[in-house]
Amino acid sequence: MSTNKTIRHRIGGRETAGTSTRTAPVWNPATGERQAEVLLAEPADVDAAVQAARAAWPGWSDTSVMRRARLMFTFRTLVEKHLDDLARIVSAEHGKVFDDARGELVRGLEVIDFACGIPQLLKGEYSDQVSTGVDLHSFRQPLGVCAGITPFNFPAMVPMWMHPIAIATGNTFVLKPSERNPSASNLIAELYAEAGLPDGVFNVVHGDKVAVDTLLDHPDVAAVSFVGSTPIAQYVHERASAAGKRVQALGGAKNHAVVLPDADLEHAAEHLISAAYGSAGQRCMAISVTVAVGDAADPLVKLMQEKAEAIKVESEMGPVVSPEAQARIRGYIDSGVASGAELLADGRSADGAGFFVGPTLFDHVTPDMAVYREEIFGPVLVVVRADSLDEAITLINKSNWANGTAIFTTSGQAARLFQRSVQVGMVGVNVPIPVPMAFHSFGGWKQSLFGDHHMHGPEGVAFYTRAKAVTTRWPGDVREMTNLHFPTAV
Ligand code: NAD
Repeated sequence: MSTNKTIRHRIGGRETAGTSTRTAPVWNPATGERQAEVLLAEPADVDAAVQAARAAWPGWSDTSVMRRARLMFTFRTLVEKHLDDLARIVSAEHGKVFDDARGELVRGLEVIDFACGIPQLLKGEYSDQVSTGVDLHSFRQPLGVCAGITPFNFPAMVPMWMHPIAIATGNTFVLKPSERNPSASNLIAELYAEAGLPDGVFNVVHGDKVAVDTLLDHPDVAAVSFVGSTPIAQYVHERASAAGKRVQALGGAKNHAVVLPDADLEHAAEHLISAAYGSAGQRCMAISVTVAVGDAADPLVKLMQEKAEAIKVESEMGPVVSPEAQARIRGYIDSGVASGAELLADGRSADGAGFFVGPTLFDHVTPDMAVYREEIFGPVLVVVRADSLDEAITLINKSNWANGTAIFTTSGQAARLFQRSVQVGMVGVNVPIPVPMAFHSFGGWKQSLFGDHHMHGPEGVAFYTRAKAVTTRWPGDVREMTNLHFPTAV
């Protein structure tokens, strides 16, 4: 189907095409229709957005923290009011089912809730009389123009990990969302404007590598937050760091869930199926490897197979994002079969006009197979069998992916050993998708995160601010300086 709809940038408070003429298709993955075109920014358009953000920064960073917090409250109310509108947009452009899209919005809203508490978070520290007549206080100040570059799989929530905290802490922001599902970000820009955010504080440029590279090199961008695949995360980290910016770059994942023989296998199977196939497996915290330990394996695999076969693909799981993703995932299923894994559920023949791949389950997978080693980012769950918990932990710790992991057990001792020794950023105990709440921070280890800071929560506040320490003495308290020694407390 041809379309006349063109999605444009939001720069300095207004919608604009700028100098952009290149476009990318925006699919409706559930129907296979091309529903819109999105403009792809040229360097001049990115520069216009950065200049708008730069011009807005002195006024915004000088706005009192109470006003910034109140604005966040108003914005929060508007996002809540438009939650279903946002979820419909996400569902139409991403393909995830409406309730799943709503869940993404609710998790994003939690970060805005957190940002509403910014006066408390920016309180700073004060030490009285650190030397005679001398006091010391430290506080945090915003960085300037911050950029966010985000993936397709959470078109609303992942940007919300960034912009509410960046803006509440006094920065201005340029968002480059995924070109595959751009529209939610434009509605967010409208809601910020309706909440009273000054023009230029939040800007959206749509685009591809051209836009990203311009942001990474731009001398007026102070910090870059990125979420996406590992090769691009590493590239973004290296290039933006070389340009002297603060960078946090979250990458891909291959999350393992260990199931011990003492676990409630029905409960474990239910949760693993939901964590593997929800949103068609296109979640960075999806479970894509089950490590079945000892006697758990046979009954667990049987339960998972039954549950995978019972999933209603179109109404419960949704399609994958694009025809290219569908072809890539089918290719991985072919490769699993060719490498000798046992295919228990085959998603290659899922029908429907959209980009559907059905739930796929492999048993007897070994670590040398591509279906184990590589991120498939689709509804493919592989089972690796292990003889012991130690063997399962060793397997996980050998992997370079280290975003999330989970253990299913009724043994507190096993769970404690697991959470202490596993080299992964986020751990669930009988919880398959351990995404921390917004007042904690989100992030993986190893190839799943490049940079020092996790996102949102206290680490988000630290990322978007820098510390300043002020040592004060007032004239009436001044003691005579009698020497040129390095000053020490007296
Ligand atoms: P992606 O890496 O293809 O794209 C992410 C962003 O980078 C997009 O805005 C895109 O326009 C841009 N980009 C793509 N190629 C680029 C290039 N060559 N140079 C510069 N910029 C480029 O990721 P995706 O397919 O949109 O999203 C899925 C990936 O994101 C998966 O790997 C998933 O695991 C990961 N992800 C990770 C997390 C996390 O928290 N660690 C969260 C969500 C998604």
